[in-house]
Amino acid sequence: MDPLIWLDGKLVPKPEAKISVYDHGVLYGDGVFEGIRLYNGRIFEKDAHLKRLYDSAHCIRLKIPYSFQELSKALEDTVAANKVRDCYIRLVVTRGPGHLGISPENCGGVCTYIIADQIKMYPEHTYTNGMSIIVSSVVRNSPHAMPPRVKSLNYLNNILAKWEAIDAGVPEALMLNPQGLVAECTGDNIFIIKNGELLTPPEECGILLGITRAAVMDIARKMGIPVFERNITREGVYCADEVFLTGTGAEVVPVTKVDRREIGDGKPGAMTRKLMEAFSRKVRGQ
Ligand code: PMP
Repeated sequence: MDPLIWLDGKLVPKPEAKISVYDHGVLYGDGVFEGIRLYNGRIFEKDAHLKRLYDSAHCIRLKIPYSFQELSKALEDTVAANKVRDCYIRLVVTRGPGHLGISPENCGGVCTYIIADQIKMYPEHTYTNGMSIIVSSVVRNSPHAMPPRVKSLNYLNNILAKWEAIDAGVPEALMLNPQGLVAECTGDNIFIIKNGELLTPPEECGILLGITRAAVMDIARKMGIPVFERNITREGVYCADEVFLTGTGAEVVPVTKVDRREIGDGKPGAMTRKLMEAFSRKVRGQ
């Protein structure tokens, strides 16, 4: 059955959920979005996702025509209308239809929509056996150009790196920032474990501040694992004891090979497996 899409206040069947071909979200990628998960009937970290959406919109001077509470209710209404208990939610806000020029000034009405559907990021075996990734030659956007912390509708930087992964026959690519330091993967944050410490690049490295990243850091601290946001080099990843990625779609996925170099003993590490289990318990409210 077609999902019901929340489109500017109305729930409409998928085939009827349409936006203008003059929408600057389509013409220029001018807009912001969130990817959110519903687990066991509960929207995971709903407020954190909404807060990030409003922050992204604020950075690009896009005024969302709904209050925080209205959008929060719209999310709940969408999952209720679709009678789902576990799904992936896509919340999109575009600049709206305008002239063919780039200026956002001439855009009529901001367009907001919510999809509640399924997502499959990576094959199941990667969660048990670990994933091979490559380091991409595509440099992650400079925070001075297109700040990666803004979750915008323009993902071409990431898509170019994804093509390299596809060509290399692996599911994911790690992107370095203009300084050559580790930033993030095309749709996930990265963590390494070295000598019992959990390390992940800081915001200044040019990353999206992942909601899953924050949840995993919180879980790890509660488990007594020392957690640090620290600059990481490509070689630091090669020589890590364990590596894993985090994201709303991906959840927590172990990485066991980077640029054909085995990580640790080539199997998902003990600390990674512990964090995967703890994350799985947390999202289900256990
Ligand atoms: N980095 C990028 C580039 C992303 O697109 C995402 C979301 N898919 C993430 C990191 C992870 O963020 P989150 O945990 O909030 O989904």
